[in-house]
Amino acid sequence: MEIKEQVSLTQFNSFGLSVNAPLFVEVTTSLALQEVLKDPRFENALILGGGSNVLLLQDLSRPVIKISIPGIRISEENEQTAIVSAGAGVVWHDLVMWCIVNNLGGIENLSLIPGLVGAAPIQNIGAYGVELSDVFYNAIGIGRKTGDSKIFEAEDCNFGYRDSIFKNELKDEYVITTLRLSLTKVNHQLHLDYGGITQTLDAMGVITPTLDDVARAVIRIRRAKLPDPSTLGNAGSFFTNPVVLKTKAAQMASLYPDMPSYSIDDQFTKIPAGWLIEQTGFKGKTFGNVGMHNKQALVLVNYGNATGAELWEHAQRVMDAVMSKFDIELAPEVNLIN
Ligand SMILES: Cc1cc2nc3c(=O)[nH]c(=O)nc-3n(C[C@H](O)[C@H](O)[C@H](O)COP(=O)(O)OP(=O)(O)OC[C@H]3O[C@@H](n4cnc5c(N)ncnc54)[C@H](O)[C@@H]3O)c2cc1C
Repeated sequence: MEIKEQVSLTQFNSFGLSVNAPLFVEVTTSLALQEVLKDPRFENALILGGGSNVLLLQDLSRPVIKISIPGIRISEENEQTAIVSAGAGVVWHDLVMWCIVNNLGGIENLSLIPGLVGAAPIQNIGAYGVELSDVFYNAIGIGRKTGDSKIFEAEDCNFGYRDSIFKNELKDEYVITTLRLSLTKVNHQLHLDYGGITQTLDAMGVITPTLDDVARAVIRIRRAKLPDPSTLGNAGSFFTNPVVLKTKAAQMASLYPDMPSYSIDDQFTKIPAGWLIEQTGFKGKTFGNVGMHNKQALVLVNYGNATGAELWEHAQRVMDAVMSKFDIELAPEVNLIN
């Protein structure tokens, strides 16, 4: 295990920001992680996976522990179900592809989400009508202060929309080392009624879709809609979709009859943040090196050599505009790192 000094994080964050960390270590086993956590120099370290959900605001004053724990295997199975166990350092999309090759169903709609397995429970990743929590079996975390390992069952995690206990009460308390998913071996439940999957399958000439067909459809839709961070720095959706009281949503719908919205329960409605941003005129508009993407207003983009501060300044500009037009507060989905 090599501890490096003054390491550039440009290749470790999907905004492509040129930021340095004073100390950097990559861990490939839980034991190595436990060793590093004992080292007082790493007390306040940033735990980094693929860096696709962080905005690094400036050169870091704290060290980085990069999680690269590998391995995918079936740890238990019966006739219907397999429990797949994956190391926190596995690339999420590689895990999806591994499951499809092994005919295990449940995460095909989560194809092509950037990042690593260990970060998936942190914000309960989701896309195209499926969330991690739908297939979550359990996860192993190591306490940052104690070094002890703990198994988190689904009910321990308080999963919500892009949310979990790891973003709230247990923020920065545990490092996830292993994730276990419960997946179907037979009678796969395909989720096709979301985000144009059925239409894309039709266009692909698929009549009876397999797991692989669904994954290919999702990949096709995502490639058409979302900028690829390897060519245009971004972190996917920058904001979460705000949830408002039904009375507020009704008031807005009377002013904007075309406003999309999704009922959550008898009290609350979710309004797409992308639509709100479009209404403020920010979609596709650039401000120096930054802007909201021209195909997806929710994606904040680094068009060149932007700094983290410039990106955050623009995010705040957009938040202010949405607040003054709609009296709705947008919240960043991306983790702001000082
Ligand atoms: C183009 C694009 C599209 C995206 N689309 C989606 C989407 O459809 N749905 C979706 O949900 N997300 C999406 N995202 C966001 C991102 O892919 C996910 O949040 C992903 O889970 C982040 O993984 P990561 O390894 O890159 O995490 P990082 O950015 O490295 O870390 C994110 C947070 O998790 C913490 N963390 C990371 N690993 C661990 C660990 N092992 N233990 C404890 N804490 C940890 C970090 O400290 C940080 O706070 C998208 C991002 C991009 C760039």
